[in-house]
Amino acid sequence: MRSVILRNRHNEPKDLLERYIIDGKGCWLVQGGLTSNGYARIRINKVARLAHRVAYELFYGPIPEKMQVNHHCDVRHCINPKHLFLGTQSDNMRDCKSKGRLIAWGRNDKPGA
Ligand SMILES: [Zn+2]
Repeated sequence: MRSVILRNRHNEPKDLLERYIIDGKGCWLVQGGLTSNGYARIRINKVARLAHRVAYELFYGPIPEKMQVNHHCDVRHCINPKHLFLGTQSDNMRDCKSKGRLIAWGRNDKPGA
C-alpha cells in the first residue's frame, strides 16, 4: 500500500521504505512531509527525523556523531542509500563547490572590470 501516507502512527524506520517513489534518475523520493529546506521528514515514535538520515541508518548502521549524511544526487528528499554518503559540514561545502552550487567569489568581482 505504497500510496498511503502514514500519519499519527508509531512509525518504525522501515516504514520509510513504503513512502517513496523512484524517479527516472534512480532517486527514491519520499512522498509528503518535506521541510522548508526540501528535506523529507518522518515521525518515528513521535519524534520527527530527517528521512535521509533514517534511511542511511537502515542500510548502513548508526551515523557517527558530528557526521552528516549528504547526497551525491543533490536531491534532498531522496533516500536511495546509493546516493547517500557520510561527510562533515566542510565535505558538503566542498561537494557543493565542485558541483558549481556555491558562488565563486573573486572571479568577476573587480569594479568596472
Ligand atoms: Zn538520489
